[in-house]
Amino acid sequence: MKPFDVIIIGGGPTGLSTAITISKNSDLSALVLEEHSEIGNPLACGEGISKEKLLTLANMPPISKDINSSMLKLQKEKPFVEREVISQRFFFGTTGVATSNLNIATINRPLFDQLMAKEAKELGATIHLNSQVIGIDRKKQQLEVKTQKESFSAPLVIGCDGPSAHSVQMMGLTPPTEYVQGMEYKIEGVHTDALDFYFDFRKFPKMHYGWVFPKKAHTNVGIVADTASRPKEILDEFINNLNNANIKNSKIVKEIAGIIPASGPIPKRYCDNYLVAGDAAGMTNSIFYGGIAIGIHTGMLAGDTAIKAHESQKFDEEFLSEYQNLMNSFPYSDPVIQEAHDILYSKFSPSDIDAFGSLLNGWDITTISSLQKIILLIKALKMPSKLKRINDVRTVAYGFSKSRDWGF
Ligand SMILES: Cc1cc2nc3c(=O)[nH]c(=O)nc-3n(C[C@H](O)[C@H](O)[C@H](O)COP(=O)(O)OP(=O)(O)OC[C@H]3O[C@@H](n4cnc5c(N)ncnc54)[C@H](O)[C@@H]3O)c2cc1C
Repeated sequence: MKPFDVIIIGGGPTGLSTAITISKNSDLSALVLEEHSEIGNPLACGEGISKEKLLTLANMPPISKDINSSMLKLQKEKPFVEREVISQRFFFGTTGVATSNLNIATINRPLFDQLMAKEAKELGATIHLNSQVIGIDRKKQQLEVKTQKESFSAPLVIGCDGPSAHSVQMMGLTPPTEYVQGMEYKIEGVHTDALDFYFDFRKFPKMHYGWVFPKKAHTNVGIVADTASRPKEILDEFINNLNNANIKNSKIVKEIAGIIPASGPIPKRYCDNYLVAGDAAGMTNSIFYGGIAIGIHTGMLAGDTAIKAHESQKFDEEFLSEYQNLMNSFPYSDPVIQEAHDILYSKFSPSDIDAFGSLLNGWDITTISSLQKIILLIKALKMPSKLKRINDVRTVAYGFSKSRDWGF
């Protein structure tokens, strides 16, 4: 059985970020176990990420930090940023379109993950591919991690194994309780210049939202839907319904599917000798279901905690609980995000979505002025049936403001 200081389960952005933090800031030996034969594949991602997080969050693949220059010119290594997008559009049913000015990048996600893996290795981390973890046993003060081929031991294991959260279950913690399904086609050609989000609960009662994201030579068109639904049928119907002949007639070059945790942070993200980060910990933005930036950041916190645990030689849950306290101090952990998720996807009706469309049509929802708020109130007063929703709308808007930088 090979000993390591820290074993990381999962070679996605969260696990790789954890390995980078540990290897950059300490001499500890870190092992990443990844079940697939290649980092970044299979892809399960819309490939959108906030530009601000891309430029400011340590552990992102290398890029110049000059935020005023075009990212496309500043990539140091292989160009994983495919396009800078300077506006988002929100389509509400057929009644209106609002915009938001958040700057986004669309990325080549397999390359993004591979560049993170390269950095982790250069810093000294060990990455084993084709290594699916099938069991974790407690042996005195160590955990023994078993793959089909070998066993490894460490005083600290960090679960970064994505939405299925198997390691969380192996450790007896409670995994995410709710998921959504994501389904996407990568199609030939670029058929939008904004990041487009579609909300239409009337035509698509099981779809949370649909997206159309521009890339360098492709467009990603996808949907997130309830688990009790047929996402491929919904996606085909969604594309049929789009007012964009180019999208309908373009060749599909890839199909992508995956699940995303939608119940917010799991209640306990540590126990003796174990921490969990990223999707496996339920750490996604459950309004838009983005999780790359949050995964990278929670991986950094887990890596820092691992270093402190080794410095003080304490791996018990009391010591490790500080990790969760720290995570809870960041905006992406704010319970209002989950409240906003519950209201938006369980409480709002098709006619509420229509009302948003007619109230917000043509507005930039990120820069609503005081005057516009008064206009909104006057318009809303003309829709008495919607006034009872005003507190819900405020909660969703507040949740959106807390989560937007951490997703897209
Ligand atoms: C369709 C879809 C679209 C999305 N679009 C976006 C988007 O545009 N922007 C955004 O920010 N987020 C998006 N997300 C979410 C984002 O992809 C995830 O939040 C992110 O990948 C989480 O990173 P992670 O490292 O925690 O998990 P993952 O990326 O899932 O990585 C976990 C890794 O662990 C490995 N693994 C699992 N079990 C084991 C095991 N037993 N042994 C060894 N290895 C194991 C897996 O193979 C995987 O490589 C999307 C998700 C889906 C499904």
